Amino acid sequence: MRPAGRAETESLYFSYPHFDAPQDRASLPVSAPVAIVGAGPIGMTAALGLAREGIRSVVFDTKATFNDGSRAICIARQSFHILNQIGAIAPFMEKALGWTTGRSFYRGRQILEFHMPDSPAEKFRPMYNLQQQYIEQFLWQAVQNEPLIDLRWQSTITDVADVGNGVTLTVTDPSGSYPFTADWVLAADGARSPLRKIRGLRLKGENYEGRYVIADVQMPHDYPTIRRALFDPDCRRGGTILIHKQPDNIWRIDYQLRDDEDETEALREETVRASVAAVLAEIDYDGPWDLEWWSVYSANTLALDDYRDGRIFFIGDSAHIVPIFGVRGLNNGLADAHNIAWKLGWVLRGDAPVTLLDSYSPERRGATLDVFANASKSARFMTPPTAGWQLMRDAALNLALDHPFAGQLANPRQMTPYTYADSPLVTNDEGSWSKTAPLPGAALPDAILETGHLSDHLGQGFTLLTFDPELAKSVGHLPIGTLTLPADSPAAQVLGATARSAFLIRPDSHIAARWSQATPSQIEAAFTKSIGGPRP
Ligand SMILES: Cc1cc2nc3c(=O)[nH]c(=O)nc-3n(C[C@H](O)[C@H](O)[C@H](O)COP(=O)(O)OP(=O)(O)OC[C@H]3O[C@@H](n4cnc5c(N)ncnc54)[C@H](O)[C@@H]3O)c2cc1C
Repeated sequence: MRPAGRAETESLYFSYPHFDAPQDRASLPVSAPVAIVGAGPIGMTAALGLAREGIRSVVFDTKATFNDGSRAICIARQSFHILNQIGAIAPFMEKALGWTTGRSFYRGRQILEFHMPDSPAEKFRPMYNLQQQYIEQFLWQAVQNEPLIDLRWQSTITDVADVGNGVTLTVTDPSGSYPFTADWVLAADGARSPLRKIRGLRLKGENYEGRYVIADVQMPHDYPTIRRALFDPDCRRGGTILIHKQPDNIWRIDYQLRDDEDETEALREETVRASVAAVLAEIDYDGPWDLEWWSVYSANTLALDDYRDGRIFFIGDSAHIVPIFGVRGLNNGLADAHNIAWKLGWVLRGDAPVTLLDSYSPERRGATLDVFANASKSARFMTPPTAGWQLMRDAALNLALDHPFAGQLANPRQMTPYTYADSPLVTNDEGSWSKTAPLPGAALPDAILETGHLSDHLGQGFTLLTFDPELAKSVGHLPIGTLTLPADSPAAQVLGATARSAFLIRPDSHIAARWSQATPSQIEAAFTKSIGGPRP
């Protein structure tokens, strides 16, 4: 919602573009290897990921601009790696606010300051704040520069039918309807996913107690980019407030509604202004401010049982809805897009068997269930669902006033990339490794090399990372790149590697296999497994 007198997209700081529907429609292609429904952040990321694999896609979106209002603001380090790999990172680095620190307060007193792991070995900071409008704008700019992507605005998918080895979509735009056929469809059509409904699929899971008003406020407040959580503050007894800084002097203030607060009343502009003013007084801000946008939110953990329905793959919010407190909705969806893009690329080019695609749903649903487990803990701490939880939470917070260890309970679980340990594509080893070495299925950790970051040295496809030049030569017959590093390289330390160790890295930078002493035949077997079976 926006203040009275301002239109839906009349922002204090962001100029919403208007996108026309496709002109000269008769000359446009009516088929593509991949059709993507939805040009939100996840659909555009998938299109860019496919283009990186050399695959053409057509993206349809019903809207004529980016999402209105403010939604996701926290982008995790791993997502920045994804944005880097799809060639979209430059404007994000310029605009987003990187951060590492959070502070929690109980009844006005600080009980915790946490620092997320960070070091110069990391190319990116653990977290960045950036409004979703900018995320979409920057992805769209990258899409504009990519000839393999055809993005059609004001184009709604109104029906879907399976046909032979493909899917026919009915596209409805201002000039009427037309059929469009694709070998594969990515449903990136958001939480209300019309495709999910057309296919008769349902999200399953839990809804949580607790409603939050989410307000974006513009103000020249000079507090650093540190996330603040206020538990039981004077201005909102019994409730929780979260405060985040965003670019352009925009601040996100999330405040919990009491059970007896009427939602309609709470969302009236005057009420929101009064509540925000009380929060600002609580944090000792007495300068000017204006209201940009507000909305109401309650947490859910919902997912499809299977992210695939025939030739349709569900990615992003269409497949799962996670509580926003763990900042995982968008981040989780970006990893879905990255995962399915390389797999479709390898299959469509004929470099991998179609069975590779069977791994998308187990890998990404596993990641969602992991997010649910962590996010549920944060949601229960932020908004205790029962009197018992409330009692326990308050006891922990009270204890934290005098005993710092208890403050750790108020530490939100950070977003870490999921380890595909149970994936059918991952080869589990029995070698001896240090406890800190990344496991098979984990995202490759970064390291600083003499020539830049390790993450910058990975190829576009599979990479064999080794410290033994002979081993690298022995896999020359396989379609994988090689990266040979000196055995005393900092990467060896991070990876717990020795001179004979080797790692097979997937195109999405997850470790497909690792060996403390690899042989060429082991590498070939692991590569075959990681593309879903023998090459066609
Ligand atoms: C208040 C709020 C705060 C959040 N904060 C965070 C955060 O800090 N970090 C985080 O990771 N996540 C956060 N999220 C979640 C994040 O916003 C979503 O996960 C993300 O937008 C999902 O992107 P998507 O592309 O899957 O879906 P969407 O962004 O919803 O995009 C779907 C697109 O599909 C289009 N579409 C729908 N139906 C059709 C059709 N039939 N034909 C054609 N097009 C269609 C829509 O127009 C839309 O553009 C937040 C969400 C909210 C609501």
